Amino acid sequence: MTNDSRPRLTTTAGAPVASNSTSQTAGARGPVLLQDYQLIEKLAHQNRERIPERVVHAKGWGAFGTFKVTKDITHLSAAKVFDTVGKTTEVLTRFSTVAGEQGAADAERDVRGFSVKFYTEEGNWDIVGNNTPIFFIRDGIKFPDFIRTQKRHPKTNLRSPEAMFDFWSAQPESVHQVTILMSDRGIPVNPMHMHGYGSHTFSVWNKDGVRHWVKFHWRCEQPIRNYTNAEAEVLIGKTRESYQEDLYNAIDQGRFPKWKLHIQAMPEEDALTTPYNPFDLTKVWPHADYPLIEVGEMELNRNPENYFVFVENAAFSPSNVVPGIGFSPDKMLQARIFSYADAHRYRLGTHYEALPANAAKNAPVNHYHKDGPMRFFTNDFGNPDAYYEPNQHGGPVADPGVQEPPLKISGDADRYVQEDSDADYVQPRALFNLLPADEKQRLFDNMGAAMGPCSDAVKERWLAVLGRVHSDYEAGVRASLKKNSDVNAISVTQDTPVEAAE
Ligand code: NDP
Repeated sequence: MTNDSRPRLTTTAGAPVASNSTSQTAGARGPVLLQDYQLIEKLAHQNRERIPERVVHAKGWGAFGTFKVTKDITHLSAAKVFDTVGKTTEVLTRFSTVAGEQGAADAERDVRGFSVKFYTEEGNWDIVGNNTPIFFIRDGIKFPDFIRTQKRHPKTNLRSPEAMFDFWSAQPESVHQVTILMSDRGIPVNPMHMHGYGSHTFSVWNKDGVRHWVKFHWRCEQPIRNYTNAEAEVLIGKTRESYQEDLYNAIDQGRFPKWKLHIQAMPEEDALTTPYNPFDLTKVWPHADYPLIEVGEMELNRNPENYFVFVENAAFSPSNVVPGIGFSPDKMLQARIFSYADAHRYRLGTHYEALPANAAKNAPVNHYHKDGPMRFFTNDFGNPDAYYEPNQHGGPVADPGVQEPPLKISGDADRYVQEDSDADYVQPRALFNLLPADEKQRLFDNMGAAMGPCSDAVKERWLAVLGRVHSDYEAGVRASLKKNSDVNAISVTQDTPVEAAE
């Protein structure tokens, strides 16, 4: 302790520091001595204060909270997180935009990430989804290309509507997600006023080994609220951090946001007969066929003590499942099982799961992974001889009791191309049909504004996709594009005398 009882400043090695404001110099006028380790250490640390931002979902907002089971689903899942009504489990959430960098404005038109980490007694379970029930593509092999179209053009270093709509028009299954993106729900006012979805098809199995395919839905208990393009433009002119402000302040002031967790459950054998592929990430399961089943409620009630430690370092991955919850043949999910964990290994390091945000809190962690950079935990099971498996030295052993039921697989290994059919347009059509007339008009205008800068060739290709959803959809966006180009033509005409005078 110092004289005034504040803690004494130290080096990272714990040695007391004599001065934190004056470099050590040879004489009062310098130069600086290289032996001034406090100076060297401060500068070196500053250079290392950033880690690579996420390639996708770089800008995010997070909070801790509690998940409470409200309904019994033990007949569907043996996962301990669900085993008792009333049981609570601590969660960490992170919401995000997808395309923008860390400094991007929060209120941009984009899909929102919606990730939840449950610190369960059988290890961490992550639902790593979005605020949309579906996605732009259904095959992970297209993911790097798709994301490239959302990021900056290599030459102009600008976002490129031409690239986005060029890609989407060649992947017509994307029209479902693009419709949601361009609809009223494309700019939620903040993370507290939007639903969340696990999006992928997962599986659950019960104690008898009966499997169901499932979709996870977070139903927002706050009203759904969104900004129009015009409202968002005004807001972004005032603050780029509106989501961080809203979420942080709500929790700080005790206005805790809540979501109900529901599942849709499909008997395993139904997957062979549904008219849509239930493992296709561009498709929902209609509520009428598979109604929502309530499971529990999540309340966010604690702001992280340190943003970097608990939000920037948070590593969510669909690979994190626990016994009673598993994967499905969804091709995008299977790609993400690898790519998300691998992104964390690259961005945070080999032992990212041992960081405070990611370390299991309610389950022992016993593995034989060894060493590497930043191995900052011991994990030696109390016996240094137990460093391989199998061993006779009391090291941890696998538990066959948590084996998931066998997965029935049929068919030849091949690269299956999905035939062009109406199947990709049925569900976007259902969505289009349920939108009221005024929302349809905003959809036309939002899409017209977004694709305004595109070439005529790309515009026509995308309009043809819209026409296959609904002729009114194509006509509405075409009219909006024309309206915009007429306005532009008028403003060019108005400019002409000024240019002529120069
Ligand atoms: P339902 O009428 O039972 O459900 C319609 C769903 O659409 C509701 O969840 C509703 O959310 C949501 N919704 C309304 N407006 C929008 C919008 N602008 N963007 C995104 N979602 C919106 O119909 P079905 O289950 O038969 O599905 C019909 C269509 O609704 C689907 O093809 C799909 O496009 C869309 N949808 C379906 C979902 C599902 O899981 N079945 C989930 C979300 C959308 P709310 O209840 O808050 O109004």
